[in-house]
Formats: sequence, structure tokens, C-alpha cells
Amino acid sequence: MRDGQNREIRYIRVSVTDRCNLRCVYCMPPQGVEWLPHENILTYEEIGRICRILAEMGVDTVRLTGGEPLVRRGLEELVAMLKAIPGIRRVNLTTNGLLLARQLPALLSAGLDGVNISLDTLDQGQFAALTRRGDLFRVDQVLQGLEAALAAPGLEVKLNCVPMGYNDDQLVPLALLARERPLAVRFIEMMPIGLGAHMEGRSEAWVRARLEEVLGPLTPWEGEAGSGPARYVTVPGFAGRLGFISAVSHQFCQSCNRVRLTASGFFKTCLQYDRGVELRPLLSGPDGALQAAMAAALAQKPAGHCFAQREVEGGEGRIMNQIGG
Ligand code: SAM
Ligand code: SF4
Repeated sequence: MRDGQNREIRYIRVSVTDRCNLRCVYCMPPQGVEWLPHENILTYEEIGRICRILAEMGVDTVRLTGGEPLVRRGLEELVAMLKAIPGIRRVNLTTNGLLLARQLPALLSAGLDGVNISLDTLDQGQFAALTRRGDLFRVDQVLQGLEAALAAPGLEVKLNCVPMGYNDDQLVPLALLARERPLAVRFIEMMPIGLGAHMEGRSEAWVRARLEEVLGPLTPWEGEAGSGPARYVTVPGFAGRLGFISAVSHQFCQSCNRVRLTASGFFKTCLQYDRGVELRPLLSGPDGALQAAMAAALAQKPAGHCFAQREVEGGEGRIMNQIGG
């Protein structure tokens, strides 16, 4: 399936809920947000149907995200449903990791292929400040999830960190998690979306310089490139690798291969713009109507973001927990 710019679209990020057990500073306001009512959230059957139509159009990879996807009950049912769709090769998950250790066995039985765990710091005090839920949760719980994931045969495991100044002293300790383990530790530039628009992140160049100061030269990773925008390096002697996802300093829109589905059923063609189509009103109709609506939206997929301009006409009004990152 090709979009209006002739880019091949193979990947969909599906937000299964806008709810979350954390309140990360760049993602959600401290008081939380008004959750979508249950009846406005797509059912697993509806998500499965939309993904089946997309698979017929050429999508082969699904990533489940949120909000926090593991707070929605029975996620393994959705994983199994998606894995049974002809043409879907991989089903991956992005999670804050807190509930992962407990839920991983069921997710693995359902066929989960990969998991990305978001963790910005190993320090409990910083974790409490950054997630605003230090009274309820501990970094150790995330690390238990990480270890469980690394112990699962064949599961691809990545760790994502957003460097933002406050966690400068954590970048090397997080990178060192890839020294002994076959883990990809990735540094993601803060994107000016939602609350991130009011925060200053660290650039890839800054993070690279900081890592090289302590770890020595970073060398290009020779392994297979993934399906996303990350660029990988390694450090001699490391079992794993380090990655950079730098939407701000290295725009990668010309090779964008993805679309998004929000928890309430908005088919979203670009992270930055409010472009796409509401699928919920079409769910009572035939598959052909859904397919036509998604194809029409794709023809209009924006050529690229302009993060450099903070206020954009038609820009995204949703905050990140509503989009899924
Ligand atoms: N709750 C899950 C988690 O935290 O992994 C999934 C949803 S969360 C919105 C997905 C990813 O988006 C997380 O890795 C988070 O760090 C990232 N994120 C949120 N706001 C961001 C921003 N403004 N810029 C860059 N990454 C952001
Ligand atoms: Fe929740 Fe993930 Fe947003 Fe943090 S980044 S508040 S864990 S949805």
C-alpha cells in the first residue's frame, strides 16, 4: 500500500487505551485527563477487523501502545487475534513495563514478537519525579519486566529513554544495560507534541557526545536494520546496541512507513497533524467502506512534520497518551 507521496505503508501503531498508571511529565498533566468513556473505545474485535483490512492493503506489523496498554484487561486476546490475521508478521508492544513481568507469559503464548520498554531513569527519586507516581510504583518493577522479557526466547527487547536534562546522569547507566545483554537501548529526542512542546529535550548530538566521553567511540551497528527510524551504533565489547530516534534533528519523514489508530478509532496518518479519518461511524458498514476511507486518508498523508515550527495550522491537539507515541 502506498501513500500520496509514494511511500510504502507497512506498519500501524494501535493505541488500545488512553488510560495509564503513570503521569509522565512530557505526556500527561499532573491532574490526569478525562478518560474516554468505555463505550467510545474500540473493542478488540473492532481493532482486529480494522487490522485485517489493513493487512489486506499491505500492513504487516502492528505495535500495541496506549496510554499504558497493559492496563487494558485481556490484551493477550488481542495479540492472538492479530497474530491469526494472514499477512500480519509481527505484533509488538510498547509499555512502561510496570505490569509486564506478570502478564508476559500470557502475551508470549499469544505470540507476541517484541516489546519496547520505556524507562528514563534507574534512580527511584528521578522516577518518582518524572512519572509522578513514585508513591505507587518503583523502578525495580520495570526492571523485573525487562529481565522477564530478556529471558523470553526469541522476544525482541528494546528500552526507550527520552533524554531531557533532568536525567543527564542516567544516560550512561541506561546505555550500560546493553553491555551484558542483547538489548537495544534507544535515546529518543523529545518531540514538541502535547506537553513535550513546552519542554526542552537533549539533541542526539548532545547525547552521543556524553556517551562517547564515558564509553569511548560509538561504532556503526552492522546488524540488520529494523522497520523503524532508529539508527544504531554499538560500543566494542557490548552484547547489545544503542540507538537514536531523532525526529527533531534528523527528520525521517521521507521514509515514514506508518499510520496510527487511536483508542477511539481515529485513523491518523501523521504524528504531528490532525489528519486522518474517524472510523467509528463506518464500523456499522461494509469492509469496503472502511478500506476506501483509509485509502483516501493515506492519499492525503502529510509529506512530513515541521517540528521546528512549534505552532502549526492543523496541528495535533491530542496529547501523547491519546496518540500512543
Ligand atoms: N505507556 C507506554 C509507554 O510509556 O511506553 C506506551 C505509550 S507512551 C505515549 C509511548 C512512548 O512515547 C514512550 O516511550 C514515551 O516516552 C514516548 N513519549 C511520550 N511523549 C513524548 C514526547 N513528547 N516526545 C518523545 N517521546 C514521547
Ligand atoms: Fe503513561 Fe506512557 Fe504517557 Fe508515561 S509515556 S504517562 S507511561 S502513556
